[in-house]
Amino acid sequence: MADAHANVDPAELEKFESLAHRWWDKDGEFKPLHDINEVRLRFITDRSEVSDRDVIEVGCGGGILAESLANLGARIVGIDPARGPLTVAKIHAIEEGLTEYPEYEIATAETYVDEHAASFHVVAALEMLEHVPDYRITVAALADLAQPGADLYFSTINRHPKAYALMIVAGEYVLNVLPRGTHDYEKFIRPSELAQASRDAGLTVKTIQGYRYNPFTRHCTLCDDLDVNYLMHAEKPLG
Ligand code: SAH
Repeated sequence: MADAHANVDPAELEKFESLAHRWWDKDGEFKPLHDINEVRLRFITDRSEVSDRDVIEVGCGGGILAESLANLGARIVGIDPARGPLTVAKIHAIEEGLTEYPEYEIATAETYVDEHAASFHVVAALEMLEHVPDYRITVAALADLAQPGADLYFSTINRHPKAYALMIVAGEYVLNVLPRGTHDYEKFIRPSELAQASRDAGLTVKTIQGYRYNPFTRHCTLCDDLDVNYLMHAEKPLG
């Protein structure tokens, strides 16, 4: 879905397309997404009821988080503009016996919102805002997908020298935890910038929380330091 008018970078999608078949290899290129999943899932479920709720994950890729949410009883829709990862997600869900949810659809927040405005109790966009050309446009579309009173969850990487050192130099070049070229420092987003974009989209920022991933121990924990990876919880005000 490389629509020149959409807020999508075809070069970014190509990275995920070419590795799609590796998505569920817990020791492969997407290992960090598997290793951090429990912590981010808990960040969401500590704050939101997901069972029997309409939930959307934007930029769901191969469906790691979407499946976890389906297993908790969420009516979850996963959308992503990359066809390969979504195909992998669909096949994996069938293999897991998840027949009803997740539903998957090729879309971005910006295209999906045309027919699904104000439809979701919970909106999640994790590890994806740093891959879109203009995150502010995406945040506005995410806010429009949310019902009044809904919770929104974002996670991304801070544009901070420590993130450059850890995510790009160490992660991609020294330790080879991530494929080279996965991240572009210029697209990293400061917490203050994401908070501003959220407020501009009419949201109330509730919590910003750092998390830390150790590729050696494969351990992920929440922390107070926002310099590298962080999660944000925002709320769409009622009326
Ligand atoms: N959110 C998933 C996958 C993260 S990888 C997880 O955390 O487990 C980043 C994903 O964002 C990829 O699947 C990629 O195809 C998707 N993506 C890239 N550009 C996008 C855009 N403009 N809108 C929505 N998703 C996008």
